Amino acid sequence: MSGTPQTGGGLFIISAPSGAGKTTLGREIMEMVPGLRESVSYTTRKPRAGEVAGVDYNYVSHEEFTRMSERGEFIESAAVHGNYYGTSRKDLEAILAGGEDVILDIDTQGARQLKTKSAFPGAVYIFILPPSLDVLRQRLKSRNTEGEEQVALRLQNALGEIKEYEMYDYVIVNDVLSEALERLKAVILAGRSSLKRVDREWVRKNFNIISAKKEVPD
Ligand code: ADP
Ligand code: 5GP
Repeated sequence: MSGTPQTGGGLFIISAPSGAGKTTLGREIMEMVPGLRESVSYTTRKPRAGEVAGVDYNYVSHEEFTRMSERGEFIESAAVHGNYYGTSRKDLEAILAGGEDVILDIDTQGARQLKTKSAFPGAVYIFILPPSLDVLRQRLKSRNTEGEEQVALRLQNALGEIKEYEMYDYVIVNDVLSEALERLKAVILAGRSSLKRVDREWVRKNFNIISAKKEVPD
């Protein structure tokens, strides 16, 4: 066996102000690192040109989202830039049970909910920053997917999101894409070797460790 023996898949939670490059990084990192899957969220936002239902998001009506929320189907959910977004508990648990690592692209409110619940103690929290607010503005405008009003709203919300960066384990500045990707890859590979994810039963059996556990110094 190569790598680190682990039980089930791990969770990588990625947040960023809109336009920082989270979607681009997510797409590229899936090509670079095997064994990674992105969880497909539910949203009341309308699809952008080129977005595919069931791939980018599961697009649902406001009524359907509320119904799912009332039934407790979301492990986290939030209102972001005037729309609702949520992660299906069932979908997420199914991917993790299959042993794959999951990338959750969620906003800071959702990340805070997961952290508060301690739902996934081994989860790695990653925050993506743009190099500056000016660059963020340029990227949002050049993406050309939102009207002026949405761009203004997203920029207005950016500072509130950036203020939450200290909740995260890693902060990556997405200036040069290839460099940000290298860092993201390093964080994911390091996360996979974290002691929090080691299958202790495998170590015990493989090395015949039968003695009582020793205290580990801080
Ligand atoms: P987010 O998902 O965080 O809202 P996107 O991934 O859609 O952001 O990126 C916003 C825009 O910025 C897109 O047009 C994307 O092609 C561009 N972009 C992303 N990363 C970089 C980068 N490192 N350098 C230049 N442009 C980038
Ligand atoms: P966009 O509309 O640009 O695709 O996403 C807007 C924001 O919603 C981004 O910050 C994105 O991370 C966040 N988001 C997407 N899916 C979810 C989700 O399932 N839960 C939460 N809390 N935020 C999400």
